[in-house]
Amino acid sequence: MAEAIAEAKRCLNCKVPQCKKGCPVGNDIPDWIHQLSMGNLGNAMSIINAKSNLPAVCGRVCAHERQCEGNCVLGKKGAHINIGRLEQFVADFDTQMHLTRQPIVQKDRGRVAVIGSGPAGLTVAGELARGGFDVEIFEMEPQAGGVLTFGIPEYRLPKTIVKSEIEKIRQLGVRITTGVTIGPDMNIDALFEQGFDAIFMGTGAGKPKKLPIEGVQYDGVRQAIYFLRRVGLYNEGLINRNEVPIVEGDVVYVVGCGNTAMDASRTALRFGASKVTIVYHRSIENMTALRAEYDDAVAEGVEFMWNTSLTTIKPDEEGTYDITLVRDGEQQIVKGHKVILAVGSGPASRIVSTTHGIEVDPKGYVLTREYPFGMTTRKGVFAGGDVSGNQATVVHAMSNAREVAAGIAAYVDALNLMKSIGD
Ligand code: SF4
Repeated sequence: MAEAIAEAKRCLNCKVPQCKKGCPVGNDIPDWIHQLSMGNLGNAMSIINAKSNLPAVCGRVCAHERQCEGNCVLGKKGAHINIGRLEQFVADFDTQMHLTRQPIVQKDRGRVAVIGSGPAGLTVAGELARGGFDVEIFEMEPQAGGVLTFGIPEYRLPKTIVKSEIEKIRQLGVRITTGVTIGPDMNIDALFEQGFDAIFMGTGAGKPKKLPIEGVQYDGVRQAIYFLRRVGLYNEGLINRNEVPIVEGDVVYVVGCGNTAMDASRTALRFGASKVTIVYHRSIENMTALRAEYDDAVAEGVEFMWNTSLTTIKPDEEGTYDITLVRDGEQQIVKGHKVILAVGSGPASRIVSTTHGIEVDPKGYVLTREYPFGMTTRKGVFAGGDVSGNQATVVHAMSNAREVAAGIAAYVDALNLMKSIGD
């Protein structure tokens, strides 16, 4: 507490706060830091809550160095305010002490189904429930949270934190049904038949991109998203250790150099890999991972091969693989037990292929419109977050989802008005 207050006191409470400009959800940073500096944690939390549904998550996993902290004026001459750490502190303190309790609003504005319980789905659900809508979330995994539960590793985002943030959304009156895949189990038409006025697709972009590498079909080659999901399931006690595709002593090559590659590499080391090497076809300046994530990966022992391509994977007689790496036209063959691919992902087509009228762009991202904001080409069906092609970060999904929630509210209100005129 003393440390947090001392840090908060360093804030200049700038008239034109650059930190706020750098925040995708426009968090009123100096206002809540000012409250924190006076020891008013409840007030600080209420200010944060007005802009963010998942502050304990954002405080931990946002790209602070490129957003709020990267814009803090104090950073130009010395040390920026540790905004992420402070947000995390306020949110955790609030959870532990139950400082702020949000009133449950009467749910009489309409019914909304939310597909997916990742950052976008939770944001839409929270916003609409606070606004008087009856909201039900449908999640295909056995537990809620999407990428927060089954993508981002425990060491970056403890699952107890995710669970308490989800619990706060539940306490707003939101129902969450897990283990239901909208598409194969029940399509959009069936949801409308259940009486929902609008449907939000927040299904993310969890379909891994493919690479033209010879040998990707072998058992030892796995997508990073698949590996991290397996680890998430194992950590939740839902699968056995032998279903996680890394064993003690594995030599692992990871292709790609974004944050998912860092997550997969560090997780592989924590699951017993003896050596993990990231292979990236460009230079360090071009990597998409945050510098902080890269530094942590280096500190943990991950090795890097820059300007190098992985071209073929061939099984050998000892049960490992001969992996061909090419740098500046020169080939070298190395031995490895596993290859993990982390070269990006796009949206799955489960929903659009099982119903009519929802158009997508050539890459499969769902097309949405400006008014009502976020509505797809099918009336009453909205989309937001990664599935509609936004920047694939937690906070950008949340920022977009807040706007879509406003679009859904406007649409359902208009629908009800038309109905009442019709009556
Ligand atoms: Fe405080 Fe930095 Fe924001 Fe200024 S830019 S209000 S010093 S956090």
